[in-house]
Amino acid sequence: MKEIVIATNNRHKVEEISAILQGLPVRLIPLSDYPGAPELKEEGATYAENALHKALTVARFTGKWALADDTGLEVDALDGRPGLYSARFAGEGVTFADNKRKLLRLMEPIPTEKRTAAFRTVLALVGPSGESQVVEGVLHGRIAEKEQGTGGFGYDALFFIPELGKTYAELTADEKNRISHRALAVQKIREFLLKTVGV
Ligand code: IMP
Repeated sequence: MKEIVIATNNRHKVEEISAILQGLPVRLIPLSDYPGAPELKEEGATYAENALHKALTVARFTGKWALADDTGLEVDALDGRPGLYSARFAGEGVTFADNKRKLLRLMEPIPTEKRTAAFRTVLALVGPSGESQVVEGVLHGRIAEKEQGTGGFGYDALFFIPELGKTYAELTADEKNRISHRALAVQKIREFLLKTVGV
């Protein structure tokens, strides 16, 4: 059975990716099973560069397939920020709460109809010989006026999906995994695995 290491230290991402790939005949291995794995740096100029770099690093280190995700929240009224810098929006070593606080503060003067935003995930799947596949998933929504809901992680309580009338944080894990930016990208990896690599 093909083994794929999920190249992230974010346990929420591991849970979401594993749930969406459930049922495929692959064994998903968390990076935490590899103590001493190299640090996964995000120093590229694009999500794809970051995801590819992380997946390549882990594929080389483990000798197995590796799947890495780079994600950003792109807010139209902020010219696409925080985007690539979503994790360190409020500075280095900050918490999710710090980032959400900064976002809400910057968005204070922006009226509802101009609070449009997109969550974008790029996933890179890299094989032990360096073969790679890069896919993207995007979901459009808007930035809520205040936090709503307690589920999920990161910016979930601020990302409102008008079609559902809820933020990501108000969805169950199953509901988020059916519609999210990450779900759209992981579904493409699922199809790729089914079609091309003879899972
Ligand atoms: P990265 O891909 O780990 O660099 O994530 C960038 C930032 O976006 C981090 O602060 C994450 O917490 C946040 N983030 C990533 N994915 C999600 C998500 O699905 N929901 C909410 N926040 C997310």
